[in-house]
Amino acid sequence: MISRYHVRCPGCDEVFIARIGAQPTDLTKFYVPCPHCQLPIRGRMTGQELDDHRVILDGDLVSEAEASTNAPVVTIDPFVPSRYGADSLDGLGTFPTMTLMHLLEDRMLDFMEDSGHASEAIDSLWVPTEMLFEYYLDENWSMFARVANKRLEIQRIGTSRHDRSRLAYHALGVATVTIVGQTGERGKLVFDRFTRKHLAAIRQESHRALLRARDAESASLERDVFGVMGHFVDNYPSWSMGRLVRYVDASTLTDLTLFRDEFTLVRDLYQQGFELACKCLWILLATQNTVKRGDPNSFGEIHPAIVPTNKRPKNLTQFDKLPNAYKLAYSGQVPGWDGLSSLLDNKRRNTIGHASVRHDLRSGRIVTDKDQSGISYLDFLNEVLGVYEALCSLMQIVRLVRVAASPDFTVNRPNAAVYRSHRRFTPPPCRTSRVR
Ligand SMILES: [Zn+2]
Repeated sequence: MISRYHVRCPGCDEVFIARIGAQPTDLTKFYVPCPHCQLPIRGRMTGQELDDHRVILDGDLVSEAEASTNAPVVTIDPFVPSRYGADSLDGLGTFPTMTLMHLLEDRMLDFMEDSGHASEAIDSLWVPTEMLFEYYLDENWSMFARVANKRLEIQRIGTSRHDRSRLAYHALGVATVTIVGQTGERGKLVFDRFTRKHLAAIRQESHRALLRARDAESASLERDVFGVMGHFVDNYPSWSMGRLVRYVDASTLTDLTLFRDEFTLVRDLYQQGFELACKCLWILLATQNTVKRGDPNSFGEIHPAIVPTNKRPKNLTQFDKLPNAYKLAYSGQVPGWDGLSSLLDNKRRNTIGHASVRHDLRSGRIVTDKDQSGISYLDFLNEVLGVYEALCSLMQIVRLVRVAASPDFTVNRPNAAVYRSHRRFTPPPCRTSRVR
């Protein structure tokens, strides 16, 4: 749906026509560049239904009669990238649906299906899954069984700690991996490689002892990662367009801008997620150390080039204190885990987390004092998706080490189903009705 507004720019007082693409939303903040003076004019959109949908602009709205017949037109859509300064209906970036079709060509259907599954998972699966997991963490087993039964239609629940853990994490895995979608190969590979190494590592008592000793830490990671994943889902519409970057050639996006004005909100999510993901990395390195050198604390002789000699960790406690860039360099040395360093790109983290960072609405880019060209808003959203993807895998990894640290865990019977159950995530069937 596109609505037309005759707007008087609060800066230059000139009138123009804003064509604004609208979708159902709880709240979307956006901006419209004035075609006369380029001032970004902020706006908000609210309303899930047609009759309560509202678009509010910071500029004054005027009647059609007050506008001259040749008033310039700007088309923007906070849900689809458009071309900054587009003033006609011809060409790329002026007509939102056409823009997507132009950009995606034969991948349009895949993209729409992937986005559709993600939205469906959020609408129909996330709320009961989140509830189930809350009860799991609180060990409220009667409510846990009730939610599994009534909301997720799962009949066989089991009563052992292991059964419950498998169910809670499987539900979480299905929902979160569906939200990441078809382009989540890196996160999947990190998890698969970890699983193999973990199965080898837990055969050694020193490794199991370490996991037991650090179980309180793993338990708090479990709660924290779950909590942050919930914030990501709550704000999904704000970063969902990051997916587009994974579907199209980057060069086709250079002229396009997503006219959303939500940088602060999304940056906070990004930073929180990034920090937390890096806090989980000791698990990967402990596993690698055990498999390679029989000691979870031994980092061996081969260190990443960026880590100075005097910073090389001699044990996990020293590793915990390293800057994130060094931690990521260590996990990046392991084949298959290098995907984490691209999902958690430390260079971009430095730009996005810089004290002087801002969303330059005139260029549509995230810039800092030191980096004036910065990165595009769409690339930034793709980084956010990357952090979410990393968290989804790390959450399942945290689960495996918690299982191995539990008192009833026996190495001869690690129950291969635990691992198999997360090997292949299949998207849930699409439902037409909302469960919540
Ligand atoms: Zn103006």
